[in-house]
Order: sequence, then structure tokens, then C-alpha cells
Amino acid sequence: GQVDGDYDVLVLGAGPGGYSAAFRAADLGLKTVLVERYPTLGGVCLNVGCIPSKALLHVASVMDEASHLSELGVSFNKPEVDIDKLRAHKEKVIGKLTGGLAAMAKMRKVTVVQGQGEFASANHLTVQLEGGGTQTLQFKRAIIAAGSEAVKLPFLPDDPRIVTSTGALQLRQKPRRMLVIGGGIIGLEMGTVYSSTVGTRLDVVEMLDGLMQGADRDLVKVWQKFNAKRFDNILLKTKTVGAEATPEGIKVSFEGEGAPEPQTYDLVLQAVGRVPNGKRIGADKAGVAVTERGFIDVDVQLRTNVPHIFAIGDIVGQPMLAHKAVHEAHVAAEVIAGELLGDDKLAKSAFDARVIPSVAYTDPEVAWVGLTEDQAKAQGIKVKKGLFPWTASGRAIANTRDEGFTKLLFSEETHQIVGGGIVGTHAGDMIGEIALAIEMGADGVDIGKTIHPHPTLGETIGMAAEAYEGVCTDLP
Ligand code: FAD
Repeated sequence: GQVDGDYDVLVLGAGPGGYSAAFRAADLGLKTVLVERYPTLGGVCLNVGCIPSKALLHVASVMDEASHLSELGVSFNKPEVDIDKLRAHKEKVIGKLTGGLAAMAKMRKVTVVQGQGEFASANHLTVQLEGGGTQTLQFKRAIIAAGSEAVKLPFLPDDPRIVTSTGALQLRQKPRRMLVIGGGIIGLEMGTVYSSTVGTRLDVVEMLDGLMQGADRDLVKVWQKFNAKRFDNILLKTKTVGAEATPEGIKVSFEGEGAPEPQTYDLVLQAVGRVPNGKRIGADKAGVAVTERGFIDVDVQLRTNVPHIFAIGDIVGQPMLAHKAVHEAHVAAEVIAGELLGDDKLAKSAFDARVIPSVAYTDPEVAWVGLTEDQAKAQGIKVKKGLFPWTASGRAIANTRDEGFTKLLFSEETHQIVGGGIVGTHAGDMIGEIALAIEMGADGVDIGKTIHPHPTLGETIGMAAEAYEGVCTDLP
């Protein structure tokens, strides 16, 4: 193939990390090429992750809400779900966003090359073009944003009834019984979709001692109580050890503390984590070090061991979240632009987020940022809590959704906020305020004295800060 060259920046992978890096680089005046193996831009997040899952979770929550209205004297007929139409709706949402990205790439004059890319040297990448043949791209700087993919359990048979999140999002089945392997965010979100839209009964199996690891246990307790009706079994400290495809379904066997007899399911979702794509990009040819597990180590400027090659997003490690990838992308693009254009300020750009929020977009949502109580304890940081139960929130009561609560953690020493979590409807839309408070070093007074609009759910953050004992005792 021909050598196409002299790009300032080559970006490998067009997920949230890759397209954000390419767009920022182009905006800063660099000649940029973006390599993506899939026909659309947007990576996992837009095509088979964040966005399609939220499109379906929206429908799920409207359906739940509507059925709940019968208790308030408003009844609808039992919903009928046309799964083909629902799938088409999801595809339309994806198409709008990926189409938008393609237009933005064009507007910014980012060259998009479609095909599987592999480094050929520290300054060349060879692309197996989608239409056949190869093209070699020459670059001054590269940003690796090749992302991750779902872990597949080796002992599960090859069967269309056993899927990862990608398969589950295709909505090919209306399962009566579904097993979710892995009690993390992705598994519980997909379980929620099937349970709410097509009435699937759920089992979840988790190796560790609780669902949604990483979230504050008090929040998870509320979620679990509210969601108990979806589940036949929540199997904790239990492993899936085998599965057999039978005409009746997938017969799964378990081992561990909660292990039941083998169970048969119509659909089995494996949601046990994601592996980075580091081992399939020819990194060695560029001299870029890849860890045993396929991650690429980087410094605060997202630089790999090869000084002119950067890496961002899922491929550089946890948390594997789109908003983390985007911020890393901007730093890498800025550092490169600073170096190539001789702008010292840009060249000093660095990733120094204090905290990265996490959200489970389930019903209710669970959102958290910074330290949890357990983490503070483990790190020997003395904290005091500010709690606000939503049973005292006018808006939550008016919404008939007062199961939630807002929990803030403050350093006993500095009174600054070090963590916070919310369980309740719209928790994810509110967690940004707590992240901002942590970034700004706000204390209980700053948050408690900030006037929040009434009646809103966001108000519960102000109230929790006011409730924070020892600082705001003057408040009613
Ligand atoms: P990716 O999005 O994985 O993109 C990498 C791209 O690189 C892919 O398009 C891939 O095709 C391409 N690529 C890889 N290797 C090559 C190669 N050799 N040549 C050419 N192209 C290549 N995160 C959130 O923040 N919020 C959510 O609500 C959320 N929901 C999720 C739901 C699901 C079901 C899943 C699976 C994930 C979810 N995530 C969510 C995680 C989020 O999708 C990822 O963190 C994010 O996509 C990572 O972005 P990235 O740019 O690092 O990589």
C-alpha cells in the first residue's frame, strides 16, 4: 500500500476518547487522522454502550412509572412491546449521534480512515482497509484510544442465548428467565431493561459479597430493596462454574455460598468486566509497552513509555468510563499541540482530576463520587456524614419516589467534602454538583449556604450539607 503521510497526529480508535482527541487536536490546528475499524464513529459508548443502554433504560423507566400510577388512581392498559420497533428506535438514537460525529469530523477536516490499524513502526501505522488492501499512515505523534471489549467466560458454550452487553442490546429475545453474571453496573442496567420492558425474571450471580462494588453500601441497600421484585435470586459470594446448552434453555451450575441447584435460563448475560484491546494493535512495533492484561501505562500527560505516543480511555485503566476518556483525550491533544506548535502553556496540560463520578442508570439511579465511607475508613481518613433522606423532600414525595437519600462525607479535619453519593431518581444528573464541590475544596458551609431551588431533588444536596453535624449547627 501507499504511504500517506505527514500527519501531525494519528488517533487510533474513534470512541469517546479517540473522537474527542481528534477533534481537540484539529481545533488546535493540527493535521489529524482518525483510524476506526467500525463503519461509524463513537466506539463502544455510542454504538454498543452508554447511549443504546440509556435509550432502552428510558423506555424501561417510563413503563415502570406508568404501571406505578395505578396506585395513584390512574391506570393504563398493560403495555404491549413491539421489540422490533423498540430496537429500531434505539438504532435511530445511535444513528443521530454517530452521524453527528461524522459531520463534526468533516467540518474540522479530520481525515477518517476505516479499517483495522496496527503499528508498523514508531512513526507508521498500517491499516487493513475495509474495502481491501492496506494504507500506511505516517505520523509525528500518536494517541492510542483502542478501548476495551467484554470479557468472555471461557467455559460458556457458543450459543445465541449466551450474550455480552453487545448481544443483550440487540434485543433479539423476550426471555422469561435471565441470568446476569456479574453484579456490576452494566449487568444490572441490562437486567433492568429486560425486566421492565418484556417482564423477564432475573437472577444475578456475583462472586463478591455485594452488588455494585465501588458504591457506598448504604446506597446499594436502598437500590436492592426497591428492586427486590425483579429478582428470583440474588446469588452473592457465588460463581458460575459451568453451562450446558439444552433445548429448554441454558442450564447453569453454580458454586459458593449462595449456590442453588443448576438453573435453566432463556438468556445468560455475561457482564464480568472488560479487557483492554492493547494486545491487538502491534504496540511492540512502535516500542509501546503493554501490560500482561493488555493495558498501556501512561503518566499524567497520558504519555506512554514512548515519548511521542500517548494513550487514553479504557485502554489505560480504570475507571472505564466515557467521561474519563474524554478528559484524558483533551489533555493528550493539548500536550501534543503545545509541543508541535511551541505553546508552553498547552504543553503543560495534565490530567489531575481529583475525582471521577460513577452512575448506575438503573431505577432508582445510584451515583457516587470521591470516597465512600468504607474507603475513607480503609485509608484512615476520619469523616463525618451529612445525610438527607428523601422522605423529607417535598419533591420526592410529590413524585411518589421518596425511597432515595443523599449522603455527603466531610473530612473531620478540614470540613471539606471528600465524597458523596445519591440513590434516587435522577441521581446521575445531580452527582456533578458534588464532584464540583470536591474539585473546588468546598466545605459543608459552602454547600449548605448555597441556595438550591425548591422544590427539587438537587435541594437534597444542600440539605445534606446543612445536616452535617458540627459545621452548620446554626441552621434550622
Ligand atoms: P471505546 O469506546 O472502546 O472505543 C475504541 C474504538 O477503537 C472502538 O470503536 C474500536 O472499534 C476501535 N479500535 C480498537 N482497536 C482498533 C484497531 N486496531 N484499529 C481500528 N480501530 C480500533 N461509560 C459511561 O461513562 N457511562 C455509561 O453510561 C456507560 N454505559 C456503558 C454501557 C455498556 C453496555 C458498556 C459496554 C459500556 C458502558 N460505558 C459507559 C463505558 C464506555 O462505553 C467506555 O468507557 C468508553 O466507550 C471508552 O471509550 P474509549 O474511547 O476508551 O474506547
